[in-house]
Amino acid sequence: MTSSADLHKRRSAAVARGVSSVIASYVDTAGGGTLRDVDGREWIDFASGIAVTNVGNSAPRVVEAVRAQAERFTHTCFMVAPYESYVAVCEQLIDLAPGAGEKRAALFNSGAEAVENAVKIARHATGRPAVIVFDHAYHGRTNLTMALTAKNMPYKQGFGPFAPEIYRVPMSYPLRDGGLSGPEAAARAVDTIEKQVGAGNVAAVLIEPVQGEGGFVVPAPGFLPALAAWSRTAGAVLIADEIQTGFCRTGSWFAAEHEALEPDLVTTAKGMGGGLPIAGVVGRADLMDAVHAGGLGGTYGGNPIACAAALAAIETMRELDLNAAARSIEARLLPALTALRDPGIAEARGRGAMLAIELVHPGTLDPDPARTAAVARACHDAGLLVLTCGTYGNVLRLLPPLVIADRDLDRGLEILRQALL
Ligand code: PMP
Repeated sequence: MTSSADLHKRRSAAVARGVSSVIASYVDTAGGGTLRDVDGREWIDFASGIAVTNVGNSAPRVVEAVRAQAERFTHTCFMVAPYESYVAVCEQLIDLAPGAGEKRAALFNSGAEAVENAVKIARHATGRPAVIVFDHAYHGRTNLTMALTAKNMPYKQGFGPFAPEIYRVPMSYPLRDGGLSGPEAAARAVDTIEKQVGAGNVAAVLIEPVQGEGGFVVPAPGFLPALAAWSRTAGAVLIADEIQTGFCRTGSWFAAEHEALEPDLVTTAKGMGGGLPIAGVVGRADLMDAVHAGGLGGTYGGNPIACAAALAAIETMRELDLNAAARSIEARLLPALTALRDPGIAEARGRGAMLAIELVHPGTLDPDPARTAAVARACHDAGLLVLTCGTYGNVLRLLPPLVIADRDLDRGLEILRQALL
């Protein structure tokens, strides 16, 4: 078989440099909570393809559903000749998304595309221009979503000009905002909105209930409900970006549930497809149906093979109770991370199987991205696939598939412990 070194040479001559990879090993097979590379080396997977393979790689139901659908038909375009599985995925989104009122859904290909469409819907329904986003937010890499994303390097550098009418306000970041309570942090954000934007101009308040790329930031309790209350009064659409947090990742179907939040719209992608590209927007019927017929769509949105995979993935999540699995991963890992006696760890945090440690220079809150990168590299050298994140590049995040074996979790944790020494 071709070696990773050979593939890397071919890649350098063929693949654009702007597309980079965390590791230099090339995958041969993957299943459950492990990957095997073409050099025959096994990896413990604490990345899940960035929070995608919640049901594990090549989950049996997903594999079978994809095979069966590929044999029936591969593509007709739902906007041309519709099919049942698209409708069934929308029914599942409506059933699972928080909020008891009447809802509708629409399907797309990627998280960024879902976010773009949620913003289109909110602007159309309200007739207003402004979109409120938060410090440390990540919403994608297309032109509109680059504007919504906070961090310049590597996502935005040199790619402007960016879309207008995006306003960034302070986030609740308990480790770094001087102990503001959730309601206090929300009041600070609202003050900025009212002074700098004007409540009547706000189409949408867009927020990740637990921030992903921005550093696995869990806002202080009460922050999200206070923002929701303000949005309701202001007539603004509250959009929860649950692309990374959704589909059992945090121990519930959606992270909004942890604070009984009922967003007006929810964006989903990643975990919902069991590894196939599919995304959705689900929410209040009056908002979703405000858009004229033909105003939403795209050639591949809700592709039949991706829909079949999503239905199989959701069935797997229900059958294996992956919400409970995520909670038990938290119970196994978070106390162990919290117990690490390391003066460079400012905080261990997260929900469910979305966990992280934030690394600083001891005795300060100054981020330590160099050590974070070194620890990640040491993990890779020992066969544990972990990712970093955070505005300052100083957060090490753990995103195991929810079906990972306890034995692999424990092995992964031990590798991380050693890497920190
Ligand atoms: N929103 C959030 C919260 C995300 O985590 C991501 C992906 N990391 C996106 C949007 C963009 O999704 P995609 O990469 O599928 O476009």
